[in-house]
Amino acid sequence: MDETRALRAGPTMPTFFFGHGNPMNAIQHNGYTDAWAAIGRALPRPRAVLVVSAHWYRPGTWVTAMRAPRTIHDFGGFPRELFEVVYPAPGDPTLAREIQEMLAPVPVGLDEEWGLDHGTWSVLCHVFPDAAVPVLQLGIDETQPSRFHYDLGHRLTSLRDAGVLVIGSGNLVHNLHAYAWGRHPVEPFEWAVRFERRARELLVAGEHGPVVAYDTLGRDAVLSVPTPEHYLPLLYVLGLRREGEPVSFPVEGIDGGSVSMLTVRVG
Ligand code: ZN
Repeated sequence: MDETRALRAGPTMPTFFFGHGNPMNAIQHNGYTDAWAAIGRALPRPRAVLVVSAHWYRPGTWVTAMRAPRTIHDFGGFPRELFEVVYPAPGDPTLAREIQEMLAPVPVGLDEEWGLDHGTWSVLCHVFPDAAVPVLQLGIDETQPSRFHYDLGHRLTSLRDAGVLVIGSGNLVHNLHAYAWGRHPVEPFEWAVRFERRARELLVAGEHGPVVAYDTLGRDAVLSVPTPEHYLPLLYVLGLRREGEPVSFPVEGIDGGSVSMLTVRVG
């Protein structure tokens, strides 16, 4: 019995944008990580997970195509315990080639160098702690405008019917200049609260245009999205939404005053 084929005929998978926040979430248990774990327990077992991570932001579109992606510790200044985390999920080279074909004529490189960065494993180690489901990453082409990323997400929609869980991992609001790294909780900045609220209203209303063209949303957007890489994974998830599908927010909160931990679920 080929279990993969059975899953291909399974139900349509929902799709998620996770606010991953501080890498320390990987080794902590808090309200965010408990909620991520609950999401994983409630989901049907996917054939594979495809993650668009804020931390793979480079020229060109790439998909990881190795059999055994390494765990990348792409940060500095954190405790040794965090550098010792390994997330040994297998890859899926066959699925990587399917994704490459699906996105043609956009050229998609098959990557053998990257692996799983902390945008992926700091969340997945809670969602799927057994690391048994194959995981691929899709890189974000830093040379392309926001609309490109929304359209690319849309073209991945059929993956949802093939049992693939597509995830964007970033943060809707991500301003590390304003972030409070100390242990004490701080009040969220007003601009962060306003921008998150506006984005949520637009998402619930299905008005994707202003979310994609976020640079038209004024000063709150400038402060909330000072650089695009943590925001763009959300646009892939919106592109994957089918007409009339519900949008919900199973995880909420603003960490350190300026990092939105909002999870967006579509479907
Ligand atoms: Zn990050």
